[in-house]
Amino acid sequence: MSADAQVVVVGGGVIGLSIAFHLAEAGVETLLLERDALGSGASRATADVVRSYFAGNPVSSALAVRSLAAYHDFPERPGLDLPLRQVGYLVLFTEREQVAAFEADLPAQRAAGVEVELVGADEARALNPLVGADLPLLAAAWSPEAYISDTAAIVGGYAQAARRAGADLRTGTPVTAVDAETGTVRTADGVFTAEALVCAAGAWSAELTRSAGVDLPLTEPVVQELLTTDRLPTAPDIPVTLHAASGLLVRLRGDRLLIGMGYPDADRQAWRARVAARLAAVYPSMAGVELHTAVTGVRDASPDRTAFIGHRPGPPAFLYAAGFSGHGLCNAPAAGELVRDLYLGKDPGLDAAALSATPERVR
Ligand SMILES: Cc1cc2nc3c(=O)[nH]c(=O)nc-3n(C[C@H](O)[C@H](O)[C@H](O)COP(=O)(O)OP(=O)(O)OC[C@H]3O[C@@H](n4cnc5c(N)ncnc54)[C@H](O)[C@@H]3O)c2cc1C
Repeated sequence: MSADAQVVVVGGGVIGLSIAFHLAEAGVETLLLERDALGSGASRATADVVRSYFAGNPVSSALAVRSLAAYHDFPERPGLDLPLRQVGYLVLFTEREQVAAFEADLPAQRAAGVEVELVGADEARALNPLVGADLPLLAAAWSPEAYISDTAAIVGGYAQAARRAGADLRTGTPVTAVDAETGTVRTADGVFTAEALVCAAGAWSAELTRSAGVDLPLTEPVVQELLTTDRLPTAPDIPVTLHAASGLLVRLRGDRLLIGMGYPDADRQAWRARVAARLAAVYPSMAGVELHTAVTGVRDASPDRTAFIGHRPGPPAFLYAAGFSGHGLCNAPAAGELVRDLYLGKDPGLDAAALSATPERVR
């Protein structure tokens, strides 16, 4: 059977599109199959945050540092002016253990190229004046390298550039089976054959990779929700701020706060009430504000909150990039570069082994 493309990529989210762009740019004949519209999965609605510091996770930080450099170069490659508004990232520590964990993690973060430092409570309050005076703040992690971007522009930019470089991006084409032994994928439009298959199907990847003999312990797709306030009378330009003890994350979107805190449980009203209570405790001026749904999207988590990116050499080769655990936007450019280099057999200049589905990680 003759090959329909050198590489078939399954999934047209930000990760699959970055992979398609980087492969096509390198001259690889690439076919991407997306069951719905491009960017319609987890990449449809994000908080648009691009940052490089991932506490306790220097592997994700290294991917994010490299990705941030690529986002700064976006006007040159793939060739689109991207909004990148620098706001910084502040993590509020209210417990001694959090400060100790930060200090223990710092050398690995610095080695990953992350700009982050410990600042005192006064400096943290100056950076985010909404933080309540009564919050027992000990210190904070401050990373200036955090930006607000535009996910739709990133998805669209990679898609346009991939097509310009010759990639064939097909939407409305669900892949129903993957056979990595023969390098074929089955769809309603027929069977496609390639020298290499790439699974970038986000939270829906586990079943596809399992059929190729790679077991990724991804969590089941779960809907995550972000909330927003009404217009605030005064809206200081605060950094993206995480309250470490609760996971309450806020950022300014226009003149409203965008808020996340874990994942809603079955009782969404109870979850909202917990968010409102925590919001009031950390930011007293927000007590009693109305909260509305801002975006919902699908959670794409791996057990150690680090993506699985790797390959089983061929021919036909099988590659995977999934489980970006809430930071796929921050990792997308580097993920595309890494998959391209694994396919081409080039040195990716990254610790690729730390990202692959080793027995230690899939146990
Ligand atoms: C509410 C929310 C806010 C977020 N905010 C941020 C943020 O601010 N910053 C950040 O870095 N990350 C954020 N994330 C995480 C980020 O959205 C994801 O990590 C990222 O979008 C994952 O991209 P992906 O391409 O792997 O997955 P997806 O975007 O889900 O793409 C996978 C694609 O595969 C397709 N597909 C699945 N199965 C098949 C099949 N069988 N055949 C063909 N196609 C298939 C799907 O339709 C989908 O389009 C957020 C996530 C959520 C839910």
